[in-house]
Amino acid sequence: MGKRFPKLIATSDNQKDQVGRAIRLDFYVSELDEIDTSVLYLPHRHPQYVICSPSQIGCVMRCVFCGLRDRKSAENLNIVQLLDLIDQTKEIGEKLFQKELKPLQVSFMGQGEPLSNIENIIPTIEYLIKESTISEIGISTIGNPIRLRALLSIPKYILSTIRLQLSLHAPMDDLRWRIMPGTKNWLIGDVIERLEKIAKMSRKKVCLNYILLKGINDSVDCLDRLINIANPNNFYIKLSVLNEVAHTNLESTNSEILFRFFRELKKQGYKVKIGSSAGRDIMAGCGQIGRVPTILDLSNRTCPVGANSLIDQGASLSV
Ligand code: SF4
Repeated sequence: MGKRFPKLIATSDNQKDQVGRAIRLDFYVSELDEIDTSVLYLPHRHPQYVICSPSQIGCVMRCVFCGLRDRKSAENLNIVQLLDLIDQTKEIGEKLFQKELKPLQVSFMGQGEPLSNIENIIPTIEYLIKESTISEIGISTIGNPIRLRALLSIPKYILSTIRLQLSLHAPMDDLRWRIMPGTKNWLIGDVIERLEKIAKMSRKKVCLNYILLKGINDSVDCLDRLINIANPNNFYIKLSVLNEVAHTNLESTNSEILFRFFRELKKQGYKVKIGSSAGRDIMAGCGQIGRVPTILDLSNRTCPVGANSLIDQGASLSV
């Protein structure tokens, strides 16, 4: 690892997508390494602007669908670095969008696993709440049950501001361990039990994010198990389409299966949202994180027709 910089320096490689919905910013953390943040603009949602912030430099969770799956190390960002990243992203974002980013959500859902850095993430959230320039805070986690238990002991006024999202992606333990090796030995039942307590305590439904991967987690058996995985009173489900990253042959599911999941989950009483695909053409979408040697040419690869048509029919978008 190269020499660490005292302050994270924004590179000049900012990317803005063609439809004005997303920007991606890269920051040098050392002479050899970069991390990125993104800002999404989702006009039909509240809050309309979302900053996706990393929580660590690198990640050791090796999720198969993620741009960071081959990284072998993770280093926690400290409070000063986290606040600096958010400040700089907001400032550059406002210049690029030529607007104040308001109302704004900050989500720890970029590079790294936020709960592995809970000692810095919680004080950062506390500071952001006190500053009161942020409308919502998001945390997206793969759900270490022990770290989830620690969340239950943070002050209630902080917990109740957090939109919590579990990267579930499989309804069976063995399948989840295969596609998300960092979850090995954690049982989905334990994770859901902890999340249910948090949902009740914070009075906010927890999001279960499910990326539909063709031939991997989109079978009828997976759907049947997903339907029964949690209580719709305390959870909602976000169905996501795969955002491509280099060097993987994973494919997103087809629109017919996406429709079936959407329909059956709704029938079961779940609120179902569709994951936003904003920014995927500039590698600012979910999972497209980490240093990328080239921007993938996705001009011919739109998100499955089903996702757009569900949105057209009123399904709400989620990040
Ligand atoms: S999806 Fe998140 S937890 Fe999984 S490897 Fe990527 S950054 Fe880490």
